[in-house]
Amino acid sequence: MDVMETILPGGLPTRRGVERRVRFKQLTGHTELALIELDKNLSRPSYASSVLTLTLDSIGDQAVDRECVMSLCVADCQFLMLRLSAMLAGEQQWLKVTCSHCDAFFDVDFRRNELPVKEAGQGFPYTTLSLEAGEAELRVPTAADQCEVAKLHEHEAMWHMLRCSIQRIDHTLPALPLIRNLSGVDIAAIDQALDAVSPAVCNELLVVCPECDGEQSTRLDHYKLSGLDGNAIYDDIHTLAMYYHWSETAILDMTRARRYKYLELIDRSRAMHGQVA
Ligand SMILES: [Zn+2]
Repeated sequence: MDVMETILPGGLPTRRGVERRVRFKQLTGHTELALIELDKNLSRPSYASSVLTLTLDSIGDQAVDRECVMSLCVADCQFLMLRLSAMLAGEQQWLKVTCSHCDAFFDVDFRRNELPVKEAGQGFPYTTLSLEAGEAELRVPTAADQCEVAKLHEHEAMWHMLRCSIQRIDHTLPALPLIRNLSGVDIAAIDQALDAVSPAVCNELLVVCPECDGEQSTRLDHYKLSGLDGNAIYDDIHTLAMYYHWSETAILDMTRARRYKYLELIDRSRAMHGQVA
């Protein structure tokens, strides 16, 4: 697996502007194992932030740490998780769908690199808007905002997300009561203004049921990582240690591509000697 570089649809706000060039680390067995061993009880946004902290090398000239990942906008995190899934499992993804019309089960596939991605609008991650309550300065929600919101109940979550997005109203940090008193018209206008400036990764696929021809959309979860198998890596370590007598550390130092290469050689050698793989 080669080191991968990509361009964010949004970018990391820095003093010098928005930095969009991202580089993933060389993914060794150590990283793979760390990903597998991440706490299963983490909320989805916290899980994605932990995954990206483990796997990203740099954004522009800046080395990536958790704080840096937390400053990325939600769509950039989704985009990076999707790229990481592609690195681990390839561009093709299969989905199991239950038809919303006739309850039939069917499989559909799509290519990760063909999903539409919308780039950020001018001024990202900030935008301004005139509200009934005053002149609002808005910021597109970040991974940190999403992690905080994931801890709250649905109703509280909406207010908290609004509070994160509204930086200032008439140049003043708005108090929570002021945010709670925003009209429905203002809230809709805020959503629209944020959508206009925010990047986006398509997370809905239009599919047709092969049984009833019913058209429906199915949601894609970009925070779910593909291509990681908690048991397979232990099998690989076991086989390589048994065959070459390498230490666990030496095996995990290798990239997945190199590990597979040696496993392939073992399979070939076993086949030549008439052993069952
Ligand atoms: Zn159907």
